[in-house]
This record gives sequence, C-alpha cells and structure tokens, in this order.
Amino acid sequence: MAGQGKTFKIITYGCQMNQRDSEMMADLLQAAGYEPVADEAEAGVIILDTCCVREKAENKVYGKLGQIERLKSANPDLVIAVAGCMVQQPGVAEKIRQQAPYVDLLLGTHNLAELPRLVEEIRELHRPLVAVREDAGPVVEDLPRRRARGAQAFVTITYGCNNFCTYCIVPYVRGRERSRRPDDILKEIEALVDQGVIEVTLLGQNVNSYGRDLEGDVTFASLLTMVNDVAGLKRIRYVTSHPRDFTPELVATISRLDKVCEHVHLPVQAGSNRILELMHRGYTREHYLELVASLRRHIPGISLTTDLIVGFPGETEEDFLETLDLVARVQFDNAFTFMYSPRKGTVAAGLPGQLPREVKKERLKRLMELQNRISLAKNEALVGQVVEVLVEGPSKTDPSQLSGRTRTNKLVIFPGEAGLTGKLVNVRLTKAQTWLLKGEISRA
Ligand code: SAM
Ligand code: SF4
Repeated sequence: MAGQGKTFKIITYGCQMNQRDSEMMADLLQAAGYEPVADEAEAGVIILDTCCVREKAENKVYGKLGQIERLKSANPDLVIAVAGCMVQQPGVAEKIRQQAPYVDLLLGTHNLAELPRLVEEIRELHRPLVAVREDAGPVVEDLPRRRARGAQAFVTITYGCNNFCTYCIVPYVRGRERSRRPDDILKEIEALVDQGVIEVTLLGQNVNSYGRDLEGDVTFASLLTMVNDVAGLKRIRYVTSHPRDFTPELVATISRLDKVCEHVHLPVQAGSNRILELMHRGYTREHYLELVASLRRHIPGISLTTDLIVGFPGETEEDFLETLDLVARVQFDNAFTFMYSPRKGTVAAGLPGQLPREVKKERLKRLMELQNRISLAKNEALVGQVVEVLVEGPSKTDPSQLSGRTRTNKLVIFPGEAGLTGKLVNVRLTKAQTWLLKGEISRA
C-alpha cells in the first residue's frame, strides 16, 4: 500500500466527458505510482474535476472546496487541485485563488497529461501552480495504457465543439472540435474488449460531425460501421447527437448495425422556432419532428431522450407552450430539463429579456410534470416484456438488488447474484416507475 502522499481521490462534476477525463487522470496517476482511495480524508492528492455549464455546478465546487479546507489544515502536505472546465474561464483562476487560497493546482482541460509532473513539482517546491493552456493543440494519443473499469467504457471520438449555441460555454472551455483518428479509436476499443468490456459509449459534444476535420471521407456513420466489426463487443452507444447533423445516411446505418443500441439522446432544447433560432441551433421544430418520425420508422422500439432549457432570454409564455406541445407530440422516454443559466462570455448572457428565476422555476415545474407523466406511461407500456439487461452491479438504493440497463437505456432493478455484474441477462419487466423498471430474471 502506498503512503498517504501517494494516494488520490478524484471528485467529478458534470457530463460523461468529465468522467472520461477523470479516468484519464486516474490512469496517469496510477502509472506514476499513485493509488486511488475511496475516502477523500485518506487521500494525499484531491482533484475536483469541475463543470461550468450552469451556475449551480460551479456553486457545488465552491461548497466542496470549503469542506476540503479542513483536511488541508489538518494535513498541510495534502495537494488540492481544481481541474476541468471551470478553470478554463477567464477570471476564475483569480476567484479561486481569492476564495480558496489553499488550492495548490489549477489544471486546464488541455493540460491533463501534465498532472503527475505538476503534483511532484508542487511537493518539491512547496508552491502553488497554474497550468491552463488556452489553445487545445493536437490530440494527444501517447497516454498510459487505458484501464477498463468493468464491462462498460466511455471512448472519446471528438474533443471540443464548433457549434456555439448561444447559451453554451462548452466551445469556450473545451476549444474547437477535434476528431480522433479512426484507427486510434478502434485500437482503444479492441484493447478495452481484451480487458472484458462489452459495451462502449462513443463520446463527443456532437458525434454527428465526427470526421469533418480529418482527411479522407470518414463520417460518424463509417466509424460506427468499423466499431460494429470489433469482435467481442456487444453494444455500442453514442452521445450527444445534434439534430441538425443527423443525416438520413446515419439513420440507415444505425438501423442496419446490430450492435448499435436502439436509443438516441437527441437534445431539442426548445419547441419554438423563434427560440431555436436565438439559440443558434440550426434546425426548426418541423425538422426535429421529421427526424423523430424517421428514427421511429427505421428503428422499431427505439427510445428517445432529450435535453430542454426553459427560460431562455425573451422566451414568452407562447414560446414555452410550444416546448410543452413538442414534448407532448414526441413522447420522449426521458428528458433532462434545465433552467437557463446565463454564462459569462456567451451571446445569450447579453441578450435582452432575461427572465426572473420565479418564471423559470414555474416553467420548469410544468415541463417536468408533463415529462414525468410521459416517462411513466412509456415505462408502463413495457411491463410484461423480456429485455436484455447489462448488469452494472448492486443497486445504489437497494444493494440487495441488481441494477442494469436495457439496450434502450432504461434502468432496470431486479433480484440477482452480484456475480452477474458485467453480464447480459434477460429480465422480465414486472413494474414501472417514472425513472426505472423493476423485473425478475427470465429463465425462459
Ligand atoms: N453537446 C451537447 C448538446 O448539444 O446537446 C450537450 C452539451 S451540455 C454539456 C448539456 C446540456 O446542458 C445541453 O444540452 C443544454 O440543455 C444544457 N445547457 C447548456 N448550457 C446551458 C445553460 N447556459 N443554461 C442551462 N442549460 C444549459
Ligand atoms: Fe454546447 Fe451546442 Fe456545442 Fe452542445 S452543440 S456543446 S450545446 S455549443
């Protein structure tokens, strides 16, 4: 066992990109002789991998830093690092230095590979460091061997985003879109499968624009076709799909490939064309509804999930009613719903017509009530079916049960042996709730 100095704990906020970055930081630290610990009080290095997509995410980080200060007072050798999207924003480094002067390292989203060296340097020099590069530079591939963590893995296919939706901070903190080369992606997936992975989730802010910056004519559809050929792999997922770039060719490819799961996360954001235009999303509600119809026509049983923002600047009650109408028409299986949060430096933060919090809150409540009713009805319609579930492990809320996901990404809870973790089992669905289904292993 390594001494406390050579142990680390990473606390991750935000999206799957951050989860993947955190795994990469863990691999880098482990390759340098550090060991992960479950409890931050036992760690020699604590890293907060931050998100800044909404104000709430940032507030959580400041709250956590307040708690960690006590650990630092008790153990001055503790190294505290703040990494990820938050530190990439102008002015945040200064704010953290003022509010939490005990933080030793600020690490930008393009500097992750420097982590082990910087931690050593802080320990030797006894002074804080800042490593925040603004320019992403080329994609780095020569990282330490990737460790699989169970039967599922995230695999990044693009970094950054070129879309500049007017509300969104991501392009500013993650840089321009850069695609990884298909052979690097395939090599990584093959190595993961060798370690027992059977499901991969391909990650990008807009997976549908994969390959545009690469030579040759590689597209997301052609990448999926190559990944589908990896022997031993059973399931392929991907997030996030942008409705503007979801081509008919891609719909056809997905319907043809047996390993690609019948689930698309397709953020619509709003139901009013006026608001979609102000958001700079590049599609209309009519285009979105046609795409949904085409997906349902070509991929029977497909589940659709989405992201929705309420209270975008200038959103009227009529605009909001169009969002409710679109949600009622599409009948999403599930939706992530957000109150608009102004992000400094984005176009929307400077638009007139910023709405009071009470209006956003009230609209969010109405939207969630509608979606919850739809989610429950969708799940109820599945009761009685036998579905394939990839077991993720004991359920977090009831460890005597197992939890796992269907190909359509539904969460299923059922009694079973923990030894089934990482395996595909057939489960008969017996009971529906808004967020999950209950079931029992089917021996039939
Ligand atoms: N690239 C993905 C996409 O285009 O949908 C997801 C990016 S973002 C990390 C995830 C979700 O956060 C978005 O789909 C959007 O609904 C929400 N979001 C982004 N910026 C926001 C803001 N300023 N206020 C509220 N929600 C926001
Ligand atoms: Fe943000 Fe839009 Fe890019 Fe998604 S597509 S990351 S919402 S700018």
